[in-house]
Amino acid sequence: MSTAVVVGGGPAGLMAAERLASTGVAVTVYDRMPSPARKLLLAGHGGLNLTHSEGRERFLPRYGEAADRLAPALDAFGPDDLRAWCAGLGEETFVGTSGRVFPRSFRATPLVRAWLARLGDLGVRIERRRTWTGWAPDGALRVTTADGAVEEVRPDVTVLALGGASWPRLGSDGGWVGTLAERGIAVTPLRPANVGMCVTWSVGYADRFAGSPLKHVRLTVPGGPGRSVAVVRGDAMVTRTGIEGGPVYALGAAIRAALDADGRCVLEVDLRPDQGADQLAARLARRRPKESASTWLRRALGLDPVAVALLREATGGALPDAPEALAALAKAVPVVVTATMPIDRAISTAGGVEWSEVDEHLMLRRLPGTFVAGEMLDWEAPTGGYLLQASFATGFVAAQGALGWLARDTRG
Ligand SMILES: Cc1cc2nc3c(=O)[nH]c(=O)nc-3n(C[C@H](O)[C@H](O)[C@H](O)COP(=O)(O)OP(=O)(O)OC[C@H]3O[C@@H](n4cnc5c(N)ncnc54)[C@H](O)[C@@H]3O)c2cc1C
Repeated sequence: MSTAVVVGGGPAGLMAAERLASTGVAVTVYDRMPSPARKLLLAGHGGLNLTHSEGRERFLPRYGEAADRLAPALDAFGPDDLRAWCAGLGEETFVGTSGRVFPRSFRATPLVRAWLARLGDLGVRIERRRTWTGWAPDGALRVTTADGAVEEVRPDVTVLALGGASWPRLGSDGGWVGTLAERGIAVTPLRPANVGMCVTWSVGYADRFAGSPLKHVRLTVPGGPGRSVAVVRGDAMVTRTGIEGGPVYALGAAIRAALDADGRCVLEVDLRPDQGADQLAARLARRRPKESASTWLRRALGLDPVAVALLREATGGALPDAPEALAALAKAVPVVVTATMPIDRAISTAGGVEWSEVDEHLMLRRLPGTFVAGEMLDWEAPTGGYLLQASFATGFVAAQGALGWLARDTRG
């Protein structure tokens, strides 16, 4: 009987384990934590957005530069396959108003419980509190137990699915980067993705508005040399130390590029994206006698207190009186981002094993018989179910590749 080791018991690793075991391979999963799938379970606290229902032509570009490389995996195990797989585990899914797909229970616990039971039935051994630390000189995998003992294992195939580096207390800490680098495998540096951005608000603004949403805004990251303009609409959340939320996360790569180039990124916030500056100026032209600036802005433009205060924040409290100037400001309030929030609070990780290091089966070219899946690979995507979808899909494809490799081995 062929043997496989999967390192990492997250969605990518467990999917690879299921696929391999369902064809009769003896699979052992090693995870450094006392229980597997901790990040998946945490994602369940937010309702578990498993995937997205939009068509392939909209879905694929969410993966940006990695879309072409991920396409075969997303075709092999796409959103419909994922939904059918969930249903097979007793978790029917539904499409929310935004097109996002969730399990009916809105939780991860029932899914994970059913999945672990299925894996047990397939004979998958899950070895907990086992940390993979690299390879012995003869190629054996080195695994350290909780009491510090080192075991060496020599499976026929290996799938590495150790995750990225966000939320390290859940198990994935990016410690594998150095291990792979020692073997000459190129890794794009891991960076926070889907993460809040640091803004130095005045104390008064932070005190009063932390936790308040800037509703229906359009955020723009201006272009620069070699960088195109990036624009996203949605609700952004003011926090004590910055700004976060879906549109901020979606602009993450553009903001990081601006930070790399200039050390800061001036985010432009359009508070009234559905109206042109001329329309706003016309509304502002009718200021009533003795009307305060706040009342004027609320009445003429319908701005919330958090938005009015943002205008003041950007001008040091000196709002322009001229309607045209105020309208122009409301269309592009400058918010200076100084840094991304730390990776340990990020939802996901950008960077990872470079695509040139793996073949179309996700096998490491330098280590034949060893495959890579999940967030370890160099891709990023916004929130919306795209992260889990690609993790499951690459786990599936890595296992298919491993099965092909085993078949080749047998024939050889
Ligand atoms: C708060 C939060 C909410 C999220 N919500 C969503 C959501 O709703 N929808 C969505 O699509 N995505 C969501 N995500 C992202 C999603 O959870 C991840 O993209 C996904 O879990 C990545 O899967 P993975 O298998 O590649 O890695 P992981 O899930 O990180 O699993 C990697 C596993 O490898 C183990 N490991 C690491 N190093 C070693 C080692 N040296 N030896 C042994 N084991 C090791 C870890 O313990 C871990 O169990 C969320 C993430 C967070 C943090």
